[in-house]
Amino acid sequence: MVRCTYRNGRWGEVCLTSDFHISIHAAATALQYAQEAFEGLKAFRGVDGQVRIFRPEANARRLQDSARAMYMPPLPVEKFMEAITLCVEENSDYIPPYGTGATLYLRPIQIGVSPRVGVTSAEEFDFLCVATPIGPYFPAGFGTTPFIINRWIDRAAPYGTGQYKVGGNYASAFRATEPAHEQGLGVLFLDSTEHKYIDECGGANFFGVKDGVYVTPKSRCILPSITNRSLMTLCADLGIPHEERRIPVEELADMQEAASCGTGAAISPISKIIDPDYSKTYDFGIAPGSVCCKLYHALQDIQYGRAEDKHRWCVIV
Ligand code: PLP
Repeated sequence: MVRCTYRNGRWGEVCLTSDFHISIHAAATALQYAQEAFEGLKAFRGVDGQVRIFRPEANARRLQDSARAMYMPPLPVEKFMEAITLCVEENSDYIPPYGTGATLYLRPIQIGVSPRVGVTSAEEFDFLCVATPIGPYFPAGFGTTPFIINRWIDRAAPYGTGQYKVGGNYASAFRATEPAHEQGLGVLFLDSTEHKYIDECGGANFFGVKDGVYVTPKSRCILPSITNRSLMTLCADLGIPHEERRIPVEELADMQEAASCGTGAAISPISKIIDPDYSKTYDFGIAPGSVCCKLYHALQDIQYGRAEDKHRWCVIV
């Protein structure tokens, strides 16, 4: 694990530790008021044996946005890059071999550590990054998952924290996602103002394919997914038109493919979306569609070093 502390108004040196336990005061603002932000990214062992971290600078900038939203000082991008690179280098024995689909997952977090029982911000902060090998998302091959719409639990509010990666967004969504997961379903959240438009999938963005066009929601409540941005760039490369706009739920009926996208799976195609309030099911088929397959392979080819990284997304360690 790597650690960097913010004391007396400045960030210190990046340090390495093999102890995953941290000691903080029980009244630390991270514990009392969820003054916290986090990130998630992966390092891939490529076909050529080289290790590639996918777009870490984008995660660095997103963590800065989340930190500012939580009234925390942003960690400089260079410090983030130094910490992430060191974390991957020092954990190189745990980067799974090429061909297994397994990767090294990196989980940077930033927390407020000053004790405060009065409702105020911390003055001292910690940045930490742990690493762990994780297995392939699709052990049985690229496949589809069913989803269910939840109109009764909002993930975030339009002028709240939906577009930031902060812990509270996830803990408060568990009451929707955990019961759904027990039934083998993913959750599709709608806009929290009208519950008419698609927002996102809780831990991933949503996209659909309508008459050959990649369509993804535009909303103040969704996390700007680095995977989704990358897929839109790949769409442009592959001549697939793409649109970012509000998507009314009923438009699902006109889509031939639907999927969630994020670091975890890259793309996770959706077999069907159940809308229990209207006793409706939108079907996309049990096999992943052709646009999902094309984009999935194009993205993974870059991440595993099988294709030219013409957008310079990967940082080789
Ligand atoms: N949306 C949410 C709420 C997420 O937690 C994530 C995962 O980080 C994503 C979308 C996908 O973002 P990314 O592609 O950067 O992993």
